[in-house]
Amino acid sequence: MTETTLAAPPPRAGRRQVRACVVREPGRPPAVERVWLDPPGPGEVLVRIAAAGVCHSDVHLADGVLGEDRWPIVLGHEGAGVVTARGEGVTSVAEGDHVVFCLVAPCGVCEACRSGRRTLCEPAGAEGVAGNLRTGTRRLSAADGSTLQHGFTIACFAEHAVVSAQSVIPIPRDLPLWQAALLGCGVVTGFGAVTHAARVRVGERVAVIGCGGVGLQVIAAARLAGAATIVAIDRRPEKLEHALRRGATHAVDASGGDAAAEVVAITRGGADHAFEVVGAAPTIRLAWDALRPGGTAVVVGLAPSGVEVSLPAIEFLSEKSVLGCYYGSGDPVAVVPGLVELVRAGRLELADMVSHLIELDGAAEAMDRLRRGEGDRSVIVIDPELAGATAGGTP
Ligand SMILES: [Zn+2]
Ligand SMILES: [Zn+2]
Repeated sequence: MTETTLAAPPPRAGRRQVRACVVREPGRPPAVERVWLDPPGPGEVLVRIAAAGVCHSDVHLADGVLGEDRWPIVLGHEGAGVVTARGEGVTSVAEGDHVVFCLVAPCGVCEACRSGRRTLCEPAGAEGVAGNLRTGTRRLSAADGSTLQHGFTIACFAEHAVVSAQSVIPIPRDLPLWQAALLGCGVVTGFGAVTHAARVRVGERVAVIGCGGVGLQVIAAARLAGAATIVAIDRRPEKLEHALRRGATHAVDASGGDAAAEVVAITRGGADHAFEVVGAAPTIRLAWDALRPGGTAVVVGLAPSGVEVSLPAIEFLSEKSVLGCYYGSGDPVAVVPGLVELVRAGRLELADMVSHLIELDGAAEAMDRLRRGEGDRSVIVIDPELAGATAGGTP
């Protein structure tokens, strides 16, 4: 791995050099570069990154399926670290606070926020697509001085990140940061799908299609919510085994046969809730086909733009429905403390979600594993001391 070196001195006061994982153009693997990071401006904080999880959304972004004009960009949105400096006016966190990142920092005042749909916050969404921080600015630039975009308003595949103060959620210090890193995206997304979007009730029958990083969180959440039957569906036997260890009651191998018919047989009539955690037309259709009358398919997977799904419209007569779900459909700031308590009480296992602990320059390989559907979460250990783990170590 070669790294660019910064020839010119920093032109702006307080700039620091950080190693960061940059995607220069869609389809090209990310590479570690030395980049400039400006100090936090008003309403922003500087975070020393301990660890970051590699999520499928990073892959989609790097592959160019989330839209044009998103490069060059520093990847990473699921992570944890320690606040080391605050910009003007920040009172919500202090230096030394341990935090996890929140990739949709709600403004609280737009129409979506006011109607309680904080994951649909309009300015947060717009700044994310524009590659800005939630404050509307950019604090990253490349060696040649050109501006870099911030991945999902965060950009935490780097030694430090400057983010909006609203983009961090404080957590207690006793939670190992290499595990806490998962909370801000995968865990919030999976748990929110069950508790906020579907509102799973005790005794219900649930199907989960796709047992990767987020799918396993959906299974854990469904178990805690009291679902009586949890059918895990995947093509990889090792993922199905992990799903069973995590609380699934049944496993269906989707690589052969009629997976929907198997779910209908296991649940004696179909699932009350079928969670699609892949983001593809055939699996969204599978979620629909696995439902009982009155059931709901919850689409959690992020589908590339342009993907269309066809459904047998006659079945709307049976009051089936399809529900979109973004980032757990709740308020991450309100949700994370409860998730932390579950982890501390030993009722939500995070460590067993991590299959690989890697270095920053291992991100490209981790993204390839996600494309192939291999392994669970890869966590980049950026600062071993802070993270409480070492790259290459066994989780
Ligand atoms: Zn993510
Ligand atoms: Zn808002």
